[in-house]
Amino acid sequence: MPGFDMHTHTVFSDGTTTPEDNVAAALALGLAGLAVTDHDTTAAISRARAAAAGTGLEIVPGTEFSAELDETSVHVLGYWFDLGDEPLQAEMDRLRNERERRADEIVVKFNELAVPITMQRVLEIAGAAPIGRPHIAKAVVEVGAAATVQEVFDTWLADDGPAYVPKYAVHPVVAVELLVAAGGVAVLAHPALYGRADQGIDDDVVEAMAAAGLVGIEVDHPAHDESARERYGRLATRLGLVAVAGSDFHGESKDVSLGDAVTAGDVVDVLRASVRGG
Ligand code: AMP
Ligand code: ZN
Ligand code: FE
Ligand code: FE
Repeated sequence: MPGFDMHTHTVFSDGTTTPEDNVAAALALGLAGLAVTDHDTTAAISRARAAAAGTGLEIVPGTEFSAELDETSVHVLGYWFDLGDEPLQAEMDRLRNERERRADEIVVKFNELAVPITMQRVLEIAGAAPIGRPHIAKAVVEVGAAATVQEVFDTWLADDGPAYVPKYAVHPVVAVELLVAAGGVAVLAHPALYGRADQGIDDDVVEAMAAAGLVGIEVDHPAHDESARERYGRLATRLGLVAVAGSDFHGESKDVSLGDAVTAGDVVDVLRASVRGG
């Protein structure tokens, strides 16, 4: 089905593929569009645009913005915002620095737990990307303390794990406000995957985000089970929000392919129509 994959990562965050790889994959699938949504950065967008130029593939400029609520990460997808917007870029800059500080703390925790990773190696793995837990998890796998990145999350790094350190990030409502003020469209990413044991984000938080200008909810995500899709699909309907689909492709780090979830073009048009003045 030609549609838009509205949630993808590259090596500019914690994905393992380049923007050019992702454009090639989208073209091979015959997708109509590809949103570039790296964590807290917009650095991959110009390369994706250059790679897609003249192909007919539409690049949706975006980011997956980190917010935090009760020591749990909450991710807000933003699309079509002004890439030069000062307050938004300043918060993303601050977040990238905060990620480095937090990675330092996580490395210390692992060392205390007798896992001998180093910050130097974590920085090498992250390269130019804002440091994310998946980079740290790779370092843990490298030293042989676990077989897979998922095992590292399950044992230490999940939100309720012994090596977890929260980021100082804005409240999800403030994240929506920042994206809206930058002329963008805000969509709550994978709402079922937050909190202890993935109990999901509470309806009242989503209601507050909707009041702040949230436009959609990512209902169709590869890690959402049937009950999560029903629950958040119903919530989207009740709040008048658009149900969005995205693969959350991360390259080899996750068992998901680009295009595994796509949003139909007419639904993307509804999202696009929500851009301020657009
Ligand atoms: P960070 O932005 O550094 O907090 O890392 C968030 C990323 O870590 C997410 O985008 C996922 O890729 C990954 N992640 C978070 N929790 C888990 C988990 N329980 N299992 C596997 N991956 C996870
Ligand atoms: Zn990620
Ligand atoms: Fe996410
Ligand atoms: Fe993501």
